[in-house]
Amino acid sequence: MNQASANQQRLMARAKAVIPGGVSSPVRAFGSVGGTPVFVARAEGNRVFDIDGTDYVDLVCSWGPALLGHAHPTVVGAVQAAAAQGLSFGAPTSAEVDLATLIRERVPAAERVRFVSTGTEATMTAIRLARGATDRPLIVKFAGLYHGHSDALLAAAGSGLATAGLPGSAGVTEATAAETIVLPYNDVAALEETFVTHGERVAAVITEAVPANMGVVPPAPGFNEAIRRVTTEHGALMIFDEVMTGFRVGPAGWWGVEAGVENPTYTPDIFTFGKVVGGGMPLAALGGRAGIMELLAPVGPVYQAGTLSGNPLATAAGIATLQLADDHVYDLVNRRSKEVQDAVGAALTQAGVPHVLQNAGNLFSVFFRDEPVRNYDDAKAQDTAAFAAFFHAMLDGGVALPPSAFEAWFLSAAHDDEAMQRISDALPAAAAAAAAAR
Ligand SMILES: *Cc1c(COP(=O)(O)O)cnc(C)c1O
Repeated sequence: MNQASANQQRLMARAKAVIPGGVSSPVRAFGSVGGTPVFVARAEGNRVFDIDGTDYVDLVCSWGPALLGHAHPTVVGAVQAAAAQGLSFGAPTSAEVDLATLIRERVPAAERVRFVSTGTEATMTAIRLARGATDRPLIVKFAGLYHGHSDALLAAAGSGLATAGLPGSAGVTEATAAETIVLPYNDVAALEETFVTHGERVAAVITEAVPANMGVVPPAPGFNEAIRRVTTEHGALMIFDEVMTGFRVGPAGWWGVEAGVENPTYTPDIFTFGKVVGGGMPLAALGGRAGIMELLAPVGPVYQAGTLSGNPLATAAGIATLQLADDHVYDLVNRRSKEVQDAVGAALTQAGVPHVLQNAGNLFSVFFRDEPVRNYDDAKAQDTAAFAAFFHAMLDGGVALPPSAFEAWFLSAAHDDEAMQRISDALPAAAAAAAAAR
């Protein structure tokens, strides 16, 4: 395991004295890989720099937002210009209109867009909206999928809960948990059976466009379409969580990649966006059919609000990011993603480490097991000790991976040949460490 510097260890001790676990979000704590988290001082392009000035090629990219690379000068410039005009007004701005328009141009099915500050708020609002629209209580979600940390959505959730091996969260009442039905992913029969029994009481099925919070588990061909068909048959809504995939896997997110924008093979009722759409600032959104979205206050009876919603600095970052994220950017990220997958696969094969690489567009992750992963049970059956050894050896080699076996890896348009070389150079020792840890 890499040895954190005395500096880092001292800071972690100070952090733990004032912040639970020393972190503002659990996965950052290195809980499942061991050791002391890297405290980051700054980031630029494909690199993050820790408080000692050591740099790492970053494959976390802030868990997705840094599609263009860190501190892109145009995005930073846009935020600085916005900041000079005032940080927050609590009043509507033209920038919100511009960003909502950019979103609708890319995802025409998002006819109306409401801005919030986090992905958690976006999915929480989507669920309230679905219940308000249908006057039904139940929500269906899939095991291992993560939709933020609102009470209704924490059952069998991925991301930090998967990393920590938790079934759910303390503090969620039985009454709330009972209104969420959890099904295995990629299982159309289970979905159909649930609707036969509970169909008249289900407000919505919420799904990640591509599950990427238990590692990347692509939807089986036709699975998202099946969700659309079953929900339509029973008068329930389909909520498509693109917080991770939206504007990252393509200009119109996974919906654009899989369903197509022109004559889509399926269209969800409500989309949720986050991460890339805020360009690294706290901004997220939900969008969908006008008839549903206009049930939101002040037009309709479903209440939702936010002091900092549509914040001018965040909208400026989002606009600059979407304007820069053209076909060239997506081609570049797709290509780099493929290069990293090939290099990782070759190194692990060479070292004799069982592994499966899974991808959906440029999103990918590595499972340390020899069978494909179709659902959460499969994802849990991987060698997390091998991952921990691999992770720390990569860190020693100057490459920062997500500190969990249950997360996607992220590339950006700023990952250049030099970054690729650093990754290639670090891989043999990391693969050997994984082989030794099995
Ligand atoms: C990150 C994520 C969320 C939660 O977003 P936050 O901004 O962390 O609250 C919701 N859904 C998916 C699919 C995510 O990846």
